[in-house]
Amino acid sequence: MTMPPPLRNDCFALPPGVDWTPVDEALALLKERLSRRVEAETVPLAHAAGRVLAQSVSAIRAHPPWRNSAVDGYSFAGGLDTTDPRTMPLVSGRAAAGVPFIGNVPEGYAVQILTGAMVPSGVDTVVLQEDVSRGEGEIVVRGPLKRGANTRAAGEDVTEGQKIIEAGTRIGPAQIALLATCGVAAVSVFRPLRAAVLSTGDEVREPGVALETGQIADANRPMLSALLAQWGYSLVDLGIAADTEISVRDALDRAAAEADVVLTSGGASSGDEDHMARALNATGSMALWRVAVKPGRPLALGVWDGCPVFGLPGNPVAAFVCTLIFARPALAQMAGARWTEPLSFLVPAAFAKNKKAGRREYLRARMRHGSAEVFASEGSGRVTSLTWSEGLVELPDHGTQIAPGTPVKFIPYSSFGLGT
Ligand code: AMP
Ligand code: MG
Repeated sequence: MTMPPPLRNDCFALPPGVDWTPVDEALALLKERLSRRVEAETVPLAHAAGRVLAQSVSAIRAHPPWRNSAVDGYSFAGGLDTTDPRTMPLVSGRAAAGVPFIGNVPEGYAVQILTGAMVPSGVDTVVLQEDVSRGEGEIVVRGPLKRGANTRAAGEDVTEGQKIIEAGTRIGPAQIALLATCGVAAVSVFRPLRAAVLSTGDEVREPGVALETGQIADANRPMLSALLAQWGYSLVDLGIAADTEISVRDALDRAAAEADVVLTSGGASSGDEDHMARALNATGSMALWRVAVKPGRPLALGVWDGCPVFGLPGNPVAAFVCTLIFARPALAQMAGARWTEPLSFLVPAAFAKNKKAGRREYLRARMRHGSAEVFASEGSGRVTSLTWSEGLVELPDHGTQIAPGTPVKFIPYSSFGLGT
């Protein structure tokens, strides 16, 4: 599968006259404008977990491949209509898993069979070992028992040639189980998306170094790196760029050379020291998306030498939320996966709030005693709100009055592909 054409420079342009872009419109634009950035390769099943399927897969063989027994017992032909005891002579030999009974079981006879063994020719029904009285060379069985009972029919789960997994699916343990079952030993997957991460700001320092007056530790780059790792992307660490044009340009050059996409944080507004915005402006590709969302500052989107740039807010809480809401589906699509909306649940609120109209809000939230509670401080400066919370409550764009018990939309962090 070939690489798609490079992104157009104007791929993030907004329609003229747009002031505030609603979240859903921003997402629809990203979905429409961004496309796959990775090529396909074939990997053995053992290396397929976490990868995105490049081509739909069909079963090489049926599952089960042949009728087999679901229990340990005795197999005979036809069911039993009544509770009357019936005596059946046993053939010698037995059917065991992987060691089939050779030959035909004559009419009226039964054969001992073990779980997973192929049902021999001439019989089709299995009675549980516990439900028979065994005599010398014979068994006594009582019905009723349906014909085919305690067996698994050939192909009852999957037929040969049936499509089992769609292209664009991320392969997890469940998919691995099905692929292996159906005889698929290698799959065509996309190579992992290479995502670069860059922090910007003269005040931003590596965590762990002593801070001078006015400096802060870099929270965003470690956080974004961890998110990318959870999503299965390969990381290109661009470090911290100073607030100079040359520093930002150097970092973006490296991103364009080594990565398929770059996530930056800070420097994306239009202040004096917002060199990211300036650098992207110079390419003509810069679009400052003022998304009607809280928490969030404008998203600076652009294309640097063919490489899409996601300029996230500098504030770590806003950067975290904007990455989950906007970058996650966009990155998935660039990685060849389908665009997905996070799974959410309507749950009663444990809080009260008078939400004004005009922008969507994401509150740091968690479920306790069946209701969603939210972090006491809504300000986005509180990084502890991220560890306190286990998901987000999404409040709609329009105004709404929330009282304890009002249904609200809760999105657990696991819906964004995050583990703990
Ligand atoms: P800026 O968008 O560059 O004006 O940054 C907005 C706020 O986020 C400022 O208070 C910055 O100090 C802070 N900030 C920017 N980058 C980071 C970072 N990587 N880690 C933690 N805070 C940051
Ligand atoms: Mg800055």
